[in-house]
Amino acid sequence: MTICYTLSQFYDAISLVPKGYEVGFVPTMGALHQGHISLVNRAAADCKIVVVSIFVNPTQFNNPADLEKYPRTLENDCEMLEKAGATIVFIPSIEEIYPQKDNRIFDLGGLDSNGEGPHRPGHFNGVAQVVTRLFDIVEPKFAYFGEKDFQQLAIIRYFSKKLNYPLSIVSCPTVRESDGLAMSSRNLLLTPEHRKVAPAIYKTLKKAAKIATAQNLSQICPAPQELTKWVISEINSEPLLKTEYAEIVDSISLCPVKSWDEADEIQLCTAVFAGAVRLIDNIKLK
Ligand code: AMP
Repeated sequence: MTICYTLSQFYDAISLVPKGYEVGFVPTMGALHQGHISLVNRAAADCKIVVVSIFVNPTQFNNPADLEKYPRTLENDCEMLEKAGATIVFIPSIEEIYPQKDNRIFDLGGLDSNGEGPHRPGHFNGVAQVVTRLFDIVEPKFAYFGEKDFQQLAIIRYFSKKLNYPLSIVSCPTVRESDGLAMSSRNLLLTPEHRKVAPAIYKTLKKAAKIATAQNLSQICPAPQELTKWVISEINSEPLLKTEYAEIVDSISLCPVKSWDEADEIQLCTAVFAGAVRLIDNIKLK
């Protein structure tokens, strides 16, 4: 495994790849866990060359304190990546990625209008900045993203297609702790008390999915809005958790639905504060 810190090191490493070898790419912000590793494993199964980037992208943080406290565990990350079969790890500095200020504003097709969008102004534009910059550098054939960041995945699919990137976006299922909590680098920041109650988020999502499916079958559905209210109150009944939003959305447009037959595929997405740590999760309802 080759570790590159600069563009020129990266280009040297990638130039050694024989012609015809497919490059799979996994962009990350580090503080790696098994969720990230599942993406690397999938990339290694699909491609001869696996490039992983570790870059905490400042332009996607709307909150400077969040950026400041974002966990960094580089040494451990590299050990995990070596074991997982990564070929090249790219760990650029901010200057390498943004030699000058990135002023690009992306068309996100309105997919940032709901969910995370209003709560994290500029976040998805920052994601588009870094992902396009990395795609331009790495030029992968396949790029791997987690369903845990459901809205991010939809937005990346959208702008990659719109901008005609010659690559496929591959989505990978959410990896969870044994108690159901979605793995996240931010879990490292939870206090023991908050870590203990955080699994209530996914427990509630699962209950909601069960209600939605059962009610769909018996035709006496609580409307999506009713179910959303129930999800919020159920999560908030745990005093250490505070729901920022819960939305039941069309999985394609990401617009909230008013009835169950409004969309073929429906997802429940939520963001919850566990103390100062903001956790997101989602589940398929239809
Ligand atoms: P991050 O380092 O948080 O930017 O995440 C890098 C990639 O890993 C993104 O595509 C995430 O969606 C994905 N990812 C993060 N957590 C998980 C998880 N628990 N399961 C699957 N993929 C994940």
